[in-house]
Amino acid sequence: MIIIMLGAQGTGKGTVAGILSKETGMPQVSTGDIFRKNINDKTKLGVEADKYISKGNLVPDDITVPMVEDRLTWDDAKNGVILDGFPRTIEQAEKLDAILEKMGKKVDLVVNLVTPREEIIDRMVTRRICSNKNCKAGYNTKLNPPKVEGICDKCGSPLIQREDDSDPEAINRRLEIYEEKTSPLVKYYENKGVLQTENVSLSINRMGADVARDLLEQIRQRN
Ligand code: AMP
Repeated sequence: MIIIMLGAQGTGKGTVAGILSKETGMPQVSTGDIFRKNINDKTKLGVEADKYISKGNLVPDDITVPMVEDRLTWDDAKNGVILDGFPRTIEQAEKLDAILEKMGKKVDLVVNLVTPREEIIDRMVTRRICSNKNCKAGYNTKLNPPKVEGICDKCGSPLIQREDDSDPEAINRRLEIYEEKTSPLVKYYENKGVLQTENVSLSINRMGADVARDLLEQIRQRN
């Protein structure tokens, strides 16, 4: 099953994808995480990608698309994947369709997370991740704080803020890019009949974990 998580930064895509992955065994393929790991490891791909990511811009398709195409061929992806952060443009969506078609697969479900903009910005600013690149657990200092401030519950490593979350210019740039380049994907997948929109907001007391629980129910019914 191919699931895509759609939604602006800070809507909880990673949280929902992480729960779905844990419960279904399908890997969470986060292009942002793959880039950050490469940046950390100072690989050639990481050095190149960082030029764009640090400014809040999209990494070009000639780097991003082959990276995803390769990831889809890994053994753990044979029963499906949860794509988190890809596709981000209509061009990427079309390229993904072509890649999946060659593999005899298709996009089965696109989960579109929607959150009010004020909440999004607040969540990006309060988001923290584990600095241990093999753990990378996610926290939020307001909504999901660790037991000990600044320390990962799972592995005890220090928590850090993503560089692009601490720079207001990069945050705004990413939200602008989302509106301009990624939001047209809502219509693209709606037309294909695979879109499911989910509101995630404190104001309706519905967070990522609630959405994930309902989605798991649906996925189990499909299988
Ligand atoms: P994320 O963790 O999904 O917010 O991604 C962090 C950054 O990685 C983004 O702001 C982009 O610079 C880059 N990135 C992640 N996914 C993609 C993608 N599908 N296409 C281009 N750039 C991406």
